[in-house]
Amino acid sequence: MAVTIGLVAQLIEKIAPKSWAEEWDNVGLLVGSGSKPIERILISLDGTLAVVEEAKDFGAQLIVAHHPIIFRPLKNLRSDNTGAQVPLGLLQHEIGYYAAHTNLDQSVFSSSRVLGEILGLEKMELLEGEERGYGVIGYLPHREKLEILWKRFLDKLTKSEVYAQDYELSGVRLAGSLEQDVRKVAIVNGSGGRFVSNALFKGADLLITGDVDHHSALDALEGGMAVGDLGHFLSEAPMLKKLYHYLSAEKSLQGIEIKVSSINRSPWLG
Ligand SMILES: [Zn+2]
Repeated sequence: MAVTIGLVAQLIEKIAPKSWAEEWDNVGLLVGSGSKPIERILISLDGTLAVVEEAKDFGAQLIVAHHPIIFRPLKNLRSDNTGAQVPLGLLQHEIGYYAAHTNLDQSVFSSSRVLGEILGLEKMELLEGEERGYGVIGYLPHREKLEILWKRFLDKLTKSEVYAQDYELSGVRLAGSLEQDVRKVAIVNGSGGRFVSNALFKGADLLITGDVDHHSALDALEGGMAVGDLGHFLSEAPMLKKLYHYLSAEKSLQGIEIKVSSINRSPWLG
């Protein structure tokens, strides 16, 4: 029996049900048909024009991505509308697009959890939510100076299997005192600025996340909490490898070629 886009969707929704997604989100199959047979899948964080090209060159019939396309209202399909170019390119090359976004963030594949494991956090629990939710918080085995901990973390991260895609540590920033002690750490993948107050409330000494703005960083520092900003891309990239391993191990997808995008990267240069 041919493998269809619908089967891949079912497998992903087993671990990240669509009903978990936020109301404002746009998840699931966004372009294409569930009944279409596939031979190759490209996994990516973003659906950019370059990723569509990569999928075409790879011969993929499906892109599985974290970030949805057609997120803001798409008002026209004009050739001078950049927001229309990705869906148009997908249609032209008959490539489907499936997004697992806030539902994946709350699943066992959440990057927050993976980053917590890389850091070696103990007694890890959800930062927000009970049975499922966003972010994690836990304890380092030993108190560590921020400077030493941050170096150790970045080193482990770049050597970890989930990062083995030659990602550069571009856009990585640290706010706080290098000398301060860290024992309790909160981690939120993606844009985690809005979790500053929650992490402070729970007594975190450090919040590791992405996309933190000036005012959120100041709020954290005022509360005595350091902030490690990996950037949006790097804080979420571990999910891609998790998805890759999950889909690659599925018996029902045997014979399907799967790869993680080799061109999807952080947009920041330094
Ligand atoms: Zn994101």
